Amino acid sequence: MRTQRQVVDYSLRKRAVLRELLAGRVGTYDVCDASPYLKNAARFHGEPTENRCPICRSENLTHVHYIYGDELKQSAGQARTLTELPVLAMTLREFQVFVVEVCLGCDWNHLVEQYLLGRDGLAGDTEAGSEQGVVGGSAAGAGPAVRRRREAQR
Ligand SMILES: [Zn+2]
Repeated sequence: MRTQRQVVDYSLRKRAVLRELLAGRVGTYDVCDASPYLKNAARFHGEPTENRCPICRSENLTHVHYIYGDELKQSAGQARTLTELPVLAMTLREFQVFVVEVCLGCDWNHLVEQYLLGRDGLAGDTEAGSEQGVVGGSAAGAGPAVRRRREAQR
């Protein structure tokens, strides 16, 4: 998606959980705990994937996209289908998307990634870059000092 930004990938954390599971330090009951809400969201708004569940290996994982943000008002925290996201991204300035993978067979679930979507991503790239670095750093504090030096020269 064109406006996707600030992507956070949780695959390392997921691998860590799976390692803990293999090592016997956590049980499947700890990680296969999808709530009825999450499973419903997966059934009605989920995006089927080709990836096998890493726990039961009998079902493919479903991705659920949750949206958060002030502009969403009462829709915040709801699940949306993947096809609805580009439409929202064109109408809203900014909202957060959390992608959760769910297995409807064994209830395994884990955060896959999060990212920002929205119109702000189309224009904002150049403004947010180098300028902020200058203002945020020592340059802001140097303002009065520069002025004093100019006055001294007069
Ligand atoms: Zn499974």
